[in-house]
Amino acid sequence: MNLHEYQAKQILRSGNITTPRGIAAASADDAVKAATELGGEAWVVKAQIHAGGRGKAGGVKVVKQLEAVHALASQLLGSVLVTNQNAPDGQPVNQVLVEETLPIARELYLSLLVDRESERVAIVASAAGGMDIEEVAHATPEKVLTEICDPLLGVQDFQCRALAFALGLTGEAYKDFCRLLPALYRVFMANDLSLLEVNPLIVTADNRVLPLDCKMSIDDSALYRRKSLAELRDDSQIDAKEAAANAANVNYVALTGNIGCMVNGAGLAMATMDLIQLEGGTPANFLDVGGGATPETVAQGFKIILLDPNVRAVLINIFGGIVRCDVIAEGIIQAVKEVGVKVPVIVRLEGTNAEIGRKLLAESGLAILAAESLTQAAKLAVDEAA
Ligand code: ADP
Ligand code: MG
Repeated sequence: MNLHEYQAKQILRSGNITTPRGIAAASADDAVKAATELGGEAWVVKAQIHAGGRGKAGGVKVVKQLEAVHALASQLLGSVLVTNQNAPDGQPVNQVLVEETLPIARELYLSLLVDRESERVAIVASAAGGMDIEEVAHATPEKVLTEICDPLLGVQDFQCRALAFALGLTGEAYKDFCRLLPALYRVFMANDLSLLEVNPLIVTADNRVLPLDCKMSIDDSALYRRKSLAELRDDSQIDAKEAAANAANVNYVALTGNIGCMVNGAGLAMATMDLIQLEGGTPANFLDVGGGATPETVAQGFKIILLDPNVRAVLINIFGGIVRCDVIAEGIIQAVKEVGVKVPVIVRLEGTNAEIGRKLLAESGLAILAAESLTQAAKLAVDEAA
């Protein structure tokens, strides 16, 4: 789960990390109030969306008059911002962060993330920070520095010194960095983050170091014990189908094809998608209703799949192991009636009470195509969606 920049910076502050002073606002008037309260002669107005690349897309601008704060905030609020890091239909801007501007001498890059290869937290830094870090990593990977943290010891002093030195920091900036890094590590661990990215980490004109931007992702599997963080979820920033899936507690990933899939078990879901491809079709989604699927989850799954206007056929592939096929068949019948499904539905049931399940479907009077095997089901779905 991702956080907004203004939320991430509040978390940094509660971890005793100095950030630029800033206030989030949901209206242009509140943005002006925020600027007045902050004082000074210039402010940066930053669109709050769950994506980077805002600067280049016109979502981060420095303004010098209160009227300009008002004008920019009204332009950004309620708009949809498309950047080179989000989906083509962009994300809505519901808040702006009004911040003091700082005199920037250098822009560095710093992030902490879970490195799957070493199974540890990795610190990634680069002197070439700012807005083009992806380009730097691609073209000049030698400019990207990495330190892996020992889980028992955390980030160690020698690692802080090595990075600070490699980043060319001296004097106060060097000391700031060596204090900042362990503090960021503590924030990372204390909040079960999977990513904490600061881009840019700036060196100011008076040689201090502080985070100017901050992106945080929380490990979804840890949200159950991070209730106050879970409350920061902003469904306006995620795909509507994925938000509905989150709410229904099913695993859903939107894809670009036209065959909706509802399957129980991730392995079976992958096999189903493979077979659809093999038969010449393309899946519209990955949806795993889980091993203990109930008629309710099946109905929810249906609704989520049909939110996608590209879906031309729905393939249901359920293996009745823990759950009985007749129960699933009843769920399917109930869901088809309730949701008013207009596209062909192909069902393959296997396992406990599969015969009874198929019989229920055949006698339901609904236009449900029952398949005997997975290959046949995939073929039928591809034909129907063509
Ligand atoms: P994004 O990564 O989405 O483009 P950033 O927060 O990194 O957004 O802002 C983009 C650029 O705007 C930064 O690299 C920096 O040059 C400038 N900027 C952002 N915040 C401030 C600030 N408080 N003071 C001065 N410049 C800023
Ligand atoms: Mg940035």
